[in-house]
Amino acid sequence: MLVKKISSIQFNVLSPAMVRKMSALEIKTPDTYDKDGYPMEGGLMDQHLGVINPGLRCKTCGQKMKQCPGHFGSLELVRPVLHSEFSKRIEQLMHATCKECSRIALPEDKLEYYRRMLTPQNGEIIGKKITAKARKVKKCPHCKAEKGTVVLDKPTNFFFNKERIYPTQIREWMEKIPEKDLELFGYRPETIRPEWFILTVMPVPPVTIRPSITLESGIKSEDDLTHKLVDIIRINLRLKDNIDAGAPQLIIEDLWDLLQYHVTTYFDNNTAGVPPAKHRSGRALRTLVQRLKGKKGRFRHNLTGKRVNFAARSTITPDPYILISEVGIPEEIANELTVPEMVTEWNKKEIQALVKDTDKAIYLVRPNETRKKIDETNKQEAVDEIDVGFKVERKLMDGDVVLFNRQPSLHRLSMLAHKARIMPGRTFRINPIVCKPYNADFDGDEMNLHVPQTEEGKTEALELMFVRDQVISPRYGAPIIVLAEDGVTGLFALTQNSTEFTKEEAMKYFYDIGLKEIPKPDRG
Ligand SMILES: [Zn+2]
Ligand SMILES: [Zn+2]
Repeated sequence: MLVKKISSIQFNVLSPAMVRKMSALEIKTPDTYDKDGYPMEGGLMDQHLGVINPGLRCKTCGQKMKQCPGHFGSLELVRPVLHSEFSKRIEQLMHATCKECSRIALPEDKLEYYRRMLTPQNGEIIGKKITAKARKVKKCPHCKAEKGTVVLDKPTNFFFNKERIYPTQIREWMEKIPEKDLELFGYRPETIRPEWFILTVMPVPPVTIRPSITLESGIKSEDDLTHKLVDIIRINLRLKDNIDAGAPQLIIEDLWDLLQYHVTTYFDNNTAGVPPAKHRSGRALRTLVQRLKGKKGRFRHNLTGKRVNFAARSTITPDPYILISEVGIPEEIANELTVPEMVTEWNKKEIQALVKDTDKAIYLVRPNETRKKIDETNKQEAVDEIDVGFKVERKLMDGDVVLFNRQPSLHRLSMLAHKARIMPGRTFRINPIVCKPYNADFDGDEMNLHVPQTEEGKTEALELMFVRDQVISPRYGAPIIVLAEDGVTGLFALTQNSTEFTKEEAMKYFYDIGLKEIPKPDRG
């Protein structure tokens, strides 16, 4: 296999030529499936764009569902529309350049001065400076034309000298901006041209990123992106028909605006100044930007945040009767979490007894990694098979090392190693003395528990993170595992000279601290 190292990544804008080049098929019809549920040819579900049905083969690469990566299609727009995410950039170029000659409206010597200052990094800054100067110019120094004013009515409507200027005109304007002027805004003209911000052809994403789902009732339900693409294709066709039929300008402009609306909401259905596209049920559509952005977006949800195994989460409650270094774990949770136990010469007998006499052992793992589930029927078989080199996966038991954590994890003491203590109930129990390092209280706080799976992991937890060794705070050198609040006031009240107990109360307290005989009372 040839291994190569990535030295850099560059983000670019797709040119119309590129969109057409990477397109496996031009999409021409808004229909998705025919009466028999078969993908329509030239439609959004055409098999040239990839397959989502396990039986079918892709018509572009010939491979089946698992192997085919999916392929882009393309959609030719009858009239160009703005890519709303770029309207800020279009606005900047319109402010800085002349509508007649498309040059930056500053004299050549000024531009030459900026060109000398330009580095590969400072283009955006220089572009801002130039725009601030050039937008105040009244007359173009190159062609002597009136410069005029540009207003952007967000997100996509432009006005030039208070008159609407359409995407076709803006595109012509952008096309004429010379490369040497574009460089001053930080563009690399060989890879990006501003007229590409105005779409004439749209890439249609592969079906694999917008799969249909078949509901139990047998009704097919389409992805939100497909719904939006259907809208775009419908309006595109209607616009074409009206232009061909020579419809009045007003109707054509209305349809053109509608096409712009659908393209804008296809990219971002939360664009300021545009009502979000909704389903009949009233639910807003989840389009491209919504898929990526925010907590539930691709980055934070699927890429940064990954699921963890051998972990549990529950509410915490106090229990002053357990050790500070213990954590009370509900039986229900302990039975779901497993610990691998290596069979050695020294513990072989013990493990055989564990398998034979308890229901704690769940799996037998042989040295070749094959596993066998242990149950009542094959217990003896398993006991006989167990040998050095085997592993037994068992339920969590008293004394096992576990990591305990409360978010936000602000310092290293937010995660400590405890010893498990299996208890009835449904909450994790901690001694209130370890509240401080976790900054925990019991008004509904939840905490996470992790079970180390290797000897190294267990040892590391015990040597570096065990509660016993973390009493002194590394931050301020005084104890952080301390008795506080209720505990302190309780002890104060308990040890006052005036505090008296009945015989029954005294018996209970003495028993709790391990005294079996009652000393003589102080007072009657
Ligand atoms: Zn394919
Ligand atoms: Zn000019």
